[in-house]
Amino acid sequence: MLVFKKVSDLRFWLQEARVAGKTIGFTPTMGALHEGHLGLVRASQAACDRSVVSIFVNPTQFNQAADLETYPRMPDQDIALLEQISCDALFLPPVEEVYPPGEDLTVRLDFGLLDQVMEGRFRPGHFGGMATVVKRLLDIVQPDRLYMGQKDFQQLTIVRDMLYQLNYPVKLVMGSTTREPDGLAMSSRNLRLTPEMRAVAPVLYQTMEGAKKAFPHTSAADVCAAAVRRLEAAGLKPEYYEIVDGITLQPVVQYTDSTFVVVCVAAWAGDVRLIDNMVLKGAPEMA
Ligand code: AMP
Repeated sequence: MLVFKKVSDLRFWLQEARVAGKTIGFTPTMGALHEGHLGLVRASQAACDRSVVSIFVNPTQFNQAADLETYPRMPDQDIALLEQISCDALFLPPVEEVYPPGEDLTVRLDFGLLDQVMEGRFRPGHFGGMATVVKRLLDIVQPDRLYMGQKDFQQLTIVRDMLYQLNYPVKLVMGSTTREPDGLAMSSRNLRLTPEMRAVAPVLYQTMEGAKKAFPHTSAADVCAAAVRRLEAAGLKPEYYEIVDGITLQPVVQYTDSTFVVVCVAAWAGDVRLIDNMVLKGAPEMA
């Protein structure tokens, strides 16, 4: 696997591939790679001639300094994992390659309500930073296909909107959420869970499975209220638990009002913030 640290070197290699008519798949990550990330890379490898992964812990999308500081970083292990699955190239840039000093690359798009709800309420500035780094990385890599996880459902929705607004000719591919055997969604942040919190964290998944079983007989409001109670009883601190339309991210009151219904949750497990979601109804082609 080729490891690029400089934009110019990566661009040179990509240009050679493009001239040779190769398609390029791109999976942006923040590292501490797990099976969820690798699943996206495998999907890229299956559909594209060249697969590129980026690892960049993007400072502009962290709204808490402590979260940025403690975010797990393990580049050597990540490189070994990507080599095991024969990934073609890794982009592992220092901050100044992504954000050259003196250049303002901030994305200032209007996402309507998409970035105001759920995560947007609790992580001010997060989606602005996320959009900025994704656009910057897309401008560097210029892939044919972009691979992102359903795990970060609101992020994916906002990226889809950004691609539409910018009229970027890239196909967004949604990878399903990879879970631990007990249902906990894989996440780099799981490494920071205490053993006690790791033991109770699967209750997030259990409440969503409960929501699926209750659907469509029990109202969304009742499902959410019961889930919040269950999470709190287990020792988690839920920030939101919402059943939303999968396109607008607005709360669903009557299930019949929407063809695509998703339950989304964020909760603190000790000092680790976990998010997850599950589709209750419909799953239109995401790109
Ligand atoms: P991150 O490194 O957390 O920024 O995630 C990089 C990409 O991997 C994002 O598109 C995530 O949605 C995706 N991802 C994270 N966790 C999972 C998972 N458990 N299953 C599938 N994709 C995931």
